Amino acid sequence: MDVAIIGAGPAGCRAAQLLAARGARVTVFDPSHPREKACGGGVTGRALALVADAVRQADVPVTVIRTVRFTDSRRGDSAIVPLEDHGPTAASALLVASRATFDQALLSAAVRAGAILQPAGVTRIDMEAEGVRLTTTQGRHRADFVIGADGANSLLRRTVAQPFRRDQLSIATGFFAHGVTSDEIVIEITADPPGYIWSFPRPDHLAIGLCAQADAGVTTGALRARAAEWIRATRIAGTAPLTPYSWPIPSLRASDLHALDVAGPRWLLLGDAAGLVDPITREGIYFALASGEWAADALGGNAPDRTFAARVRDEAIPELARAARLKAGFFRPAFTGLMLLALQQSPAVGAVMADLVAGRQSYAALKWRLLRTLEFGLAWRVLRERRRAGLPGH
Ligand SMILES: Cc1cc2nc3c(=O)[nH]c(=O)nc-3n(C[C@H](O)[C@H](O)[C@H](O)COP(=O)(O)OP(=O)(O)OC[C@H]3O[C@@H](n4cnc5c(N)ncnc54)[C@H](O)[C@@H]3O)c2cc1C
Repeated sequence: MDVAIIGAGPAGCRAAQLLAARGARVTVFDPSHPREKACGGGVTGRALALVADAVRQADVPVTVIRTVRFTDSRRGDSAIVPLEDHGPTAASALLVASRATFDQALLSAAVRAGAILQPAGVTRIDMEAEGVRLTTTQGRHRADFVIGADGANSLLRRTVAQPFRRDQLSIATGFFAHGVTSDEIVIEITADPPGYIWSFPRPDHLAIGLCAQADAGVTTGALRARAAEWIRATRIAGTAPLTPYSWPIPSLRASDLHALDVAGPRWLLLGDAAGLVDPITREGIYFALASGEWAADALGGNAPDRTFAARVRDEAIPELARAARLKAGFFRPAFTGLMLLALQQSPAVGAVMADLVAGRQSYAALKWRLLRTLEFGLAWRVLRERRRAGLPGH
């Protein structure tokens, strides 16, 4: 079978590697490599475990994250939570890599397995009775099947399904701060607009950013100014030179997730193109890699579109939809203030948040596990009493 894959990010590279290894003739189209991608670069242990065969430690320098600092920069308050550190391996909770080296390692693994990289952009896709015709910046190409791993602005999505609406996207914007690093990520949850600011240290720079729902009434410029103000206030980057970036992230509601169009005759959508990103943490690399595997498995069988859609429905949607339902409460000021207080007082609450950051905490059990911790109940009471006494409740 001839398979054309549009996009050599984590989703496309993983599908290409596995399909080529299983004997398919695979051509991957992407003109962008080598490239950095606007991204935190946070690779959870569970994501790295999926590509342990493809990512050689020597090729991908990573920062192993030892702590998460949750901050409230306006009050000068913070809480530090330890993360599990087993060195640069999938047993660690969170590693941070430059997307230039991480994606290059995945692409090299795909090419080693036999996939062909065409450094061309796809400009048009025609679905025909007998196959698929692609028009690219370097000519035409025919295939039996096309996979769209072409990110949030996916051309395949726009051709065979609906593009994401504005209310289905987050804007993420910020700066790379060159020459600074750390072994701590910093997260500040913001209530207005509901979202968060982060600093993720790659081996030789920080990826600092801020994201908010695209229909929250804030412009990219305003968000970037807020990120710049945060960098100044926290002095996190010192005098490091800053390079700006911005990029959309699919962040869907539960109802949208349940209605997702991810496959049809001769086509599949993976990763961001499919909309598979955690709407709270914005973890997308794991789902990109996992969907690449599901695509390769599905193409080996009889009804690839139905098999793939069922896998997405069963293995990704329940978790993402739960996150989407919890999201509004998560960024509420009362919850944010309470969370910082609880994190300061309770190692048990810290452990829950550490697991959430590492993608190890299911949303099905999140509320229950938080409320179950005595300390969280205690913090809730302290907050309530402070409010009753007219003291700031954080
Ligand atoms: C600011 C920001 C921070 C983030 N932080 C994290 C994080 O820390 N951890 C995490 O897990 N996720 C994070 N995400 C999400 C993560 O970046 C994505 O979910 C992930 O990259 C999705 O992988 P993908 O392979 O689906 O698509 P992408 O990585 O977007 O790759 C798509 C590829 O398709 C190519 N392409 C697009 N159109 C065409 C075309 N017409 N022809 C040929 N090629 C094309 C592009 O060049 C690109 O290389 C973040 C996202 C943003 C924007």
